[in-house]
Amino acid sequence: LILVTRPVTGVAGERTDAAGTPAQVPHSDLGFVVARASEPQLSVLDLGVTRGDGIFETVMVSSGQAPAIDAHLARFAESARLLDLPEPDEIVWTSAIAAAVALHPRVPVLAVKLVLTRGIEGTGRPTGWVVAQAARDFTAQRENGIRVVTLDRGYRHDVAQTSPWLLQGAKTLSYALNAAALREAARRDADDVIFISSDGFVLEAPTASVLLREGNRFCTPPAELGILPGTTQRRAFEFLRVYGFETDAVRLRASELKRADAIWLLSSIRQAVAVIELDGADVGFDRTLTAQLNEHLAAAGPA
Ligand code: PLP
Repeated sequence: LILVTRPVTGVAGERTDAAGTPAQVPHSDLGFVVARASEPQLSVLDLGVTRGDGIFETVMVSSGQAPAIDAHLARFAESARLLDLPEPDEIVWTSAIAAAVALHPRVPVLAVKLVLTRGIEGTGRPTGWVVAQAARDFTAQRENGIRVVTLDRGYRHDVAQTSPWLLQGAKTLSYALNAAALREAARRDADDVIFISSDGFVLEAPTASVLLREGNRFCTPPAELGILPGTTQRRAFEFLRVYGFETDAVRLRASELKRADAIWLLSSIRQAVAVIELDGADVGFDRTLTAQLNEHLAAAGPA
């Protein structure tokens, strides 16, 4: 496991050679080495690069705390299981995340990415790394909302059961189609996408979960539809229940989106962004609740 971090000097585990370049120093007892993100670290033969054969997680770290770390590590382990990759060693990955956070210059929010690939072709040894970066600022989207189009995902709602080799529900590195869907949204003058199954059920966004409000009830589509169980959605439900709202993971027809009182996309770094327009039609926008929800999601909870 390689821990890649931004250039820093004089930190534990980093050594400079005669030319003043940091060498990779094994944290032998911790199971990873520290390296610079600005220097090459990965083989061009790595199957993560050549085939997108691997998994990842993006963890939000706010004021040094990662409130959803356990859920991210659990999903990472589940993705590894679905791809027949070795089970990630929780102690090694947790230590690497902590080191990445400690080594990065202080910023309000860090995006810490965990990656595990099938490794260099022919070796049978997976490659793993953790990289910490300052998170992109999504304040404008959180304050103003986004315009969304629905797109056909091309799979039925039961694809995870009928065709498990399609790896629905695993957070794989194969995000080319997610990126393509976002480009399609841009062509349609929208900011984002909600995927609909070929038989008409609401799924998820290319990089976010969907939250829908009907009166005092908040719903999200269930993970059994071959979508990712969102760590942010889980934290949002905890918050909403404290305020006495009902929360549910249920199948939703695309037509229910049109009748919803409000819709949000939820994800670790962007947090909660309200959908203010869906397929060209206005959607209710509760600025106060959106701000309260984001306040809760940004708060550093237990690490
Ligand atoms: N669904 C997909 C496809 C995603 O890529 C993501 C996050 O990247 C999510 C849902 C939301 O997950 P989380 O809230 O854990 O970031």
